[in-house]
Amino acid sequence: MQSFRATKHKSLNFGLGVDSTALVLAIIDDPTAFGIAEDFSDFSIVTAMTGFEFPDTIADVESHVLPLLRSKGIRYTQVARAGRQDSAGVEVLSDTTSPGKVFGKGPWTLMDELEENGTVPQYAGGHVCSQKHKAFPIDRLQLKRSGGQTVGKLFGYNADEHKRAVKANKFQAERNQTAGYETFALDYPLLRLGWSRQDVQGYVKNRLGIDMAKSYCPVCPFSGVCSPQPDHLKRLRKYPGLAARVLRLEYLSMALNDNMSLYKDDTLFRRVTDDQNTEAIGRFNARLDEEPWAVYRLQRAYTAGRRPECKTAHGNRCAKPECRDSSFKGTVYRSVKTVRTGSRAEVGTFLHNAATALNRPVEHSTRAHGVGIDRVRTRVRPDPKVYGTVEDFYVTAPAGVQDKARDGFAKVWAAMTAGQ
Ligand code: SF4
Ligand SMILES: [Zn+2]
Repeated sequence: MQSFRATKHKSLNFGLGVDSTALVLAIIDDPTAFGIAEDFSDFSIVTAMTGFEFPDTIADVESHVLPLLRSKGIRYTQVARAGRQDSAGVEVLSDTTSPGKVFGKGPWTLMDELEENGTVPQYAGGHVCSQKHKAFPIDRLQLKRSGGQTVGKLFGYNADEHKRAVKANKFQAERNQTAGYETFALDYPLLRLGWSRQDVQGYVKNRLGIDMAKSYCPVCPFSGVCSPQPDHLKRLRKYPGLAARVLRLEYLSMALNDNMSLYKDDTLFRRVTDDQNTEAIGRFNARLDEEPWAVYRLQRAYTAGRRPECKTAHGNRCAKPECRDSSFKGTVYRSVKTVRTGSRAEVGTFLHNAATALNRPVEHSTRAHGVGIDRVRTRVRPDPKVYGTVEDFYVTAPAGVQDKARDGFAKVWAAMTAGQ
């Protein structure tokens, strides 16, 4: 907290949700208690837009939070990623001490990225989506603004989120070491004050007179955790069009990979169906019928992993073939290519013709996804637990996934299929 107070540029990451709103309200009441100048001259609020928010979240912020910022003349900056690559930088969507509107969408949104990749957000390996679409634009902006000085950064983590703060501190310590100076001085006032989620909600309700809508992407695989599942399903009933977009992405993702449903062991499709959200399911089916489709070719090479003894004996890297074992998973090299586009019926016919030409059946499987996925397999892995094997199939799904292969794919594929 001391190092936060010492900074010249102090800012708050405002995630549009109830926690950071509580912090905004408390700061507005008594800025000096948080180490901020009475006239807010050393303070700004920043939001990074992922491009996919529920409209009620935006409405709540516009009608209840922005008027307060305007009345105090607090600088509010809205940013987003400018493109797929980090090198595209960030786009400032709005930067004003008199904010009137939430600009929910930048030039390159999380959904743009997921739809082009044909994947749902990954739950493995941390929240990559929020790193890329929230942390990255905010950090870039602030580092640029501060000109090499430490930026004080407030997070609205509540007292139930101690673990998140520990993680953020650890990550920050690593960054400081890489940068050679303290880039950000972090502080978590709600945590320090011991405000639990319930306290926060009560406080905001008291002050604004509303139950503020929770902020998260409708496509969030963690929404079952972040927001209780019944609340989330209720919200999807309110916004069936958003639900249909996420259902479409999940279907696409599972067409390319059966295991890539939105939730770890469950599909959103099943949950929405069980919830009898017929409006969302109807819109999803209509999208499937109306949109352009593609036949994709998917190739995956699953290399064998290194034996544990090799890791002990040979360190981080070792290329000796004798150190690999087909019972350990190595790297998956994926290539996806659009072979053909057309209407749903046209690509269906194309797949059937291709199956005939290849002398293979069209597999129609409803095992993973209730709508059913059609594939023609030309190389099948004999056992999913045996590595050093490849798979190759054609599948029909909504169009739009960009051709992409992992670096090194062609070489690995050629080596693993030589002589077959
Ligand atoms: S709300 Fe969920 S999907 Fe959106 S950025 Fe955060 S972790 Fe990712
Ligand atoms: Zn080795």
